[in-house]
Amino acid sequence: MKKIVTKFGGSSLADAGQFKKVKGILEMDPARRYVVPSAPGRRFDGDDKVTDLLYRCQREAAAGGAWQDTFDRIAARYLEIAEELGLKVDLASELDAISEKIESGANADFVASRGEYLNGLLLADYLGWRFMDAAKVIFFHEDGTLDSEKTNVVMMALLADEEPTVVPGFYGVSPNGNIKTFSRGGSDITGAIVARAVVADAYENWTDVSGFLMADPRIVRNPQEISAVTYAELRELSYMGASVLHEDAMFPVHKVGIPTIIRNTNNPTHPGTLISLHLPVEPTVPTISGIAGRKGFSVIAIEKAMMNSELGFGRKVLQVFEEAGISFEHMPSGIDSISVVVAGDALEPHREEIIRRIADLVQPDVLSIHDHMAIIATVGRGMVSNCGTAARLFSAMSRANINVRMIDQGSSELSIIVGVDDADFERTIEAIYTEFVG
Ligand code: ASP
Repeated sequence: MKKIVTKFGGSSLADAGQFKKVKGILEMDPARRYVVPSAPGRRFDGDDKVTDLLYRCQREAAAGGAWQDTFDRIAARYLEIAEELGLKVDLASELDAISEKIESGANADFVASRGEYLNGLLLADYLGWRFMDAAKVIFFHEDGTLDSEKTNVVMMALLADEEPTVVPGFYGVSPNGNIKTFSRGGSDITGAIVARAVVADAYENWTDVSGFLMADPRIVRNPQEISAVTYAELRELSYMGASVLHEDAMFPVHKVGIPTIIRNTNNPTHPGTLISLHLPVEPTVPTISGIAGRKGFSVIAIEKAMMNSELGFGRKVLQVFEEAGISFEHMPSGIDSISVVVAGDALEPHREEIIRRIADLVQPDVLSIHDHMAIIATVGRGMVSNCGTAARLFSAMSRANINVRMIDQGSSELSIIVGVDDADFERTIEAIYTEFVG
């Protein structure tokens, strides 16, 4: 039987009205038999997310101050949903138990996790589905990383009966029995873990946008949605700053080839964005899948005659960054030059030491640092099969009078990366978007 795992984000479950939409979506396809809820999110602009309130409440309690008001606000969110939907779950005892734990000094992970836990209880009651506490099926190692193998084995066994089940997102359990959360937005990861464990046909991630946009809407007016993208393309886009899905949510499903689909709870007939391991690479329209970028990089440029024949040159340069604990983003090179691109704020505290160490280790002819560089990745599997993509991209930049400071194209031909001055960042994205999309 076909199996779909659905994850609903905070705004999709922010109030009783949203719960009704979620139920409607689940009823539309009987294959949707696993739900991973987030905690209630914002209902309107300026509203608070329950997770933020829970963190605040825990901080207030830990500081020995008054926390009851914040807790009451949180409780009211759940009580309102339960009342409006006529739920039977004993919410009052659950809230009392949490309040007691806060009183006796519960840590931030425990308190924050209750957002998903309670929402899961309400949703399971509303749907008439089984509730499975994530603390019974998601395991972390001592060092705080996910124990993905144990998690997969246990979850697979417990969900093998294929009964419709709600598994709250965002948390699991540490070896010492304490609750541990993922980083913010981590319910996406829970959803991907469940999808892997039940060997789902698809992992649907329901949110409040109709998929990924081709460019940042704060820069490009009304950018198109991406209808389909590969995991590899998305990795390049999210690495450069586009985020809808938690970065770590790709790995559990990517590994086993389960497609992820980003869908909109408020517009459920929109097909959203399909993320798949493989997609046809015949010429796509538009040629590119998306554009993403970030400002604030620094480029350390090193020149030395005959460096190409000096064995170990690159290794020594990178060793300097490794010693300083700075990871590098790109390393474009020429015959007698090599540049290392790093995040500006990571470089700043180590600037002098890096200059000194490079000078000592490789005796360059010239060593210069260019700050305030933006890096922009134009990503698209369609580039492989379309001639002239680079030519179009650089002509568009030249027509807009933008100086290209750096170029990097990976051998996968999945992206073309350009470096420009921070001041040209927005204009570059606009120029590339207009060239390829219009
Ligand atoms: N509720 C958590 C957060 O706000 C986790 C999630 O929604 O994915 O970060």
